[in-house]
Amino acid sequence: MDLHELTIHQAEALLKKREISSKELVKALLERIDTFDDTIGAYLTIDEKGALKQAEDADKRLADLTPDAYAADDAPPLLGIPIALKDLLCTKGLKTTCASKILENFVPQYDSFAVSKLKKAGAVILGKTNMDEFAMGSSTENSGFKLTRNPWNPDHIPGGSSGGSAASIAACMATGSLGSDTGGSIRQPASHCGVVGLKPTYGRVSRFGLVSYASSLDQIGPITRDVKDAALMMNVISGHDEMDSTSADIDVPDFTSGLSMFEKNGLKGMKAGIPKEFLSVKGLDPDVEKAFMNSKKILENLGVEIIEVSLPHTEYTIAAYYVIAPSEASSNLARFDGVKYGFRDKTCDNLIDMYKKTKSKGFGNEVQRRIIIGTYALSAGYYDAYYGRASKVRSLIMDDFKNAFKQCDIIISPVAPTPAFKIGEHIDDPLTMYLSDIFTLSANMAGIPGISIPCGLSSKGLPIGLQMMADRFDELSLIRAGYGFEQNVNLSMRFPDLKNLG
Ligand code: GLN
Repeated sequence: MDLHELTIHQAEALLKKREISSKELVKALLERIDTFDDTIGAYLTIDEKGALKQAEDADKRLADLTPDAYAADDAPPLLGIPIALKDLLCTKGLKTTCASKILENFVPQYDSFAVSKLKKAGAVILGKTNMDEFAMGSSTENSGFKLTRNPWNPDHIPGGSSGGSAASIAACMATGSLGSDTGGSIRQPASHCGVVGLKPTYGRVSRFGLVSYASSLDQIGPITRDVKDAALMMNVISGHDEMDSTSADIDVPDFTSGLSMFEKNGLKGMKAGIPKEFLSVKGLDPDVEKAFMNSKKILENLGVEIIEVSLPHTEYTIAAYYVIAPSEASSNLARFDGVKYGFRDKTCDNLIDMYKKTKSKGFGNEVQRRIIIGTYALSAGYYDAYYGRASKVRSLIMDDFKNAFKQCDIIISPVAPTPAFKIGEHIDDPLTMYLSDIFTLSANMAGIPGISIPCGLSSKGLPIGLQMMADRFDELSLIRAGYGFEQNVNLSMRFPDLKNLG
């Protein structure tokens, strides 16, 4: 197998046996980036020098480890593994732009919690990936800098907002990656790019150093080639952090035990719910429906009992999310005023004018739209009617899930109503774009974990993902069922053919 195609666990095994070095692995990926990223556009920053240096350090540490340390599995878990990071995770000394002109030259002074955990675990940071500006979008077309193309078909979007991270894994330009998910931004691009994306429970991974979009919804999580890799990354990035007051002080399990659970007991005894409201969603693509029905059969064959559940407030999810998220965004983005961070317009002669021009030139259209919606929804006289009401709907959605999880262990659904659409197809139609988030938003509203796993290809050869959701802090059920599913789904192709793109 080519080095660039290795999963994290395959690379780890070879590194530990000293059959490959981290430097060789990093070089193979850099070469791959060099060949294909002009077309794919997954990266905003490639830290070639830094990555090679980190790989050399990792190789030294690998060489110093005694065989006993290997046997006891004492080696740092990601030692020498190259990782790509969504460009809203602060990285000390490495540009962090959130794909926004307003932060074009911003270099953080510190690492985000998740990044410092990765570094402690020995990971090599390859670079920063493209995204929708400030994570607002579902196609990565809202990046202030460039397009990212779907590695399976470059005329199509990779999904978003973590489109660069998902494309970097699908195109084998990184071994693992991190994204963030406020309303589907890990799961939907993972689905569109044919890779695995896991959004943890809200509070599982500290948001310290993640540039906030909507603080009550944002979560960081892995985008990887398989479920085992997602579990390995979850082991590293999870845990309590005093620097994030919403980080949960709760035991972190060994997420790979979800894999052993499947290996020991299969999926027998598990119950999966299908929300009846999800299947009546308008605009469900027939290929997506077919792949979902096939996935249901695979789970049934594995002994999973499938039942119907109800999430009665599904029809209000999109409206409530698109009040809550922009409201929180309008407050979070107030700090980008040209005074403290990044870009400042210098053509003005008074303070108010400076704010106005800085924000109008620094923020793209979608971000400005969200700030305007959010500011309106939070303004005096409207707060109760919009933000207050949306928050009440959110509580009802949480109750819906609480009730559903009394009857089942996981809930399954498509990730997105259609496979990846064409670049430009919906860019002038924000409402259609928002409506495509129907299956992913509710997990964020309820704070529960969700995973996207490749489950088929459309008639046009574009990947389709299966979503599984579980109760709060029950990522293990997702990993167990996801791994079992992955072992049994028949995918005609695992990687896209990039031959004509280089
Ligand atoms: N598409 C959703 C939005 O634009 C979700 C984005 C996300 O999860 N960051 O808000």
